[in-house]
Amino acid sequence: LVSRKWKVNPTVIDFGDGLQIKEGELALMAGPCSIESEEQIEKTIQHLVSQNVRFMRGGVFKPRSSPYSFRGMGLEGLKMFYDLCRQAGIKVVTEVMQVSQIAPMEPYTDIFQVGARNTQNFNLLDELGKVDKPVLLKRGISGTIDELLYSAEYIFSGGNEKLMLCERGIRTYETASRNTLDLNAIPILKEKTHLPVIVDPSHGIGIREYVEPMALAAIMAGADGIIYETHEKPEEAASDGAQTLSFTESERMIRKMRKVFELR
Ligand code: PEP
Ligand code: MN
Repeated sequence: LVSRKWKVNPTVIDFGDGLQIKEGELALMAGPCSIESEEQIEKTIQHLVSQNVRFMRGGVFKPRSSPYSFRGMGLEGLKMFYDLCRQAGIKVVTEVMQVSQIAPMEPYTDIFQVGARNTQNFNLLDELGKVDKPVLLKRGISGTIDELLYSAEYIFSGGNEKLMLCERGIRTYETASRNTLDLNAIPILKEKTHLPVIVDPSHGIGIREYVEPMALAAIMAGADGIIYETHEKPEEAASDGAQTLSFTESERMIRKMRKVFELR
């Protein structure tokens, strides 16, 4: 069902208020790895509004390699995040980690993100197939393109057609970067599926200085959107600071991304 053979027309994610994510437009989603405080959300919103970015990302349930790392503000953090964003006309993108979180999160979430560690959590995918909210499905840490498409099939066949895919880098033998952003996946996915393809260069390479060139490359390769991490003070971020852009870096990257998108 997610293949271009079955549906020729590209899927449009419509938020019902004039805002859409679709082929031919560049969707930008930015924000911290983790939601940390009211002040942090407000500062980020100010930055996004000044750049006309309409989607803010931020995790409140964080999948961390170590159980001793910051694991997120939870539902209370999400409520604050959502309220502040709604007042500013910004949509919330946030990760759902398990089935039991879907119902409590739903009133405060505009896009459910499925993280790379949950791409093959088939129970979670089944349940998200029943939800009337867009889903951003990330590629698994060691997942193939076909595995990503089968995971998408779980959600789509369950009845939720508001679905986007996200290339976020895969684990390879290379140790010079956190992950290897698979630029190959972009034209391949664009040919195989009608779903929007979003790229996450922050997790894709994991090193702040290289996020911008990878974002620009992803746009030239055909991405329909970019999701990335930005924070007022990246060095103080509760998670993923090393790959997080300052607002100044984010502003510069946005300018370049829009220019490159026009050239495409
Ligand atoms: C994130 O977006 O902060 C995140 C944990 O991403 P991923 O699932 O791609 O590692
Ligand atoms: Mn992160």
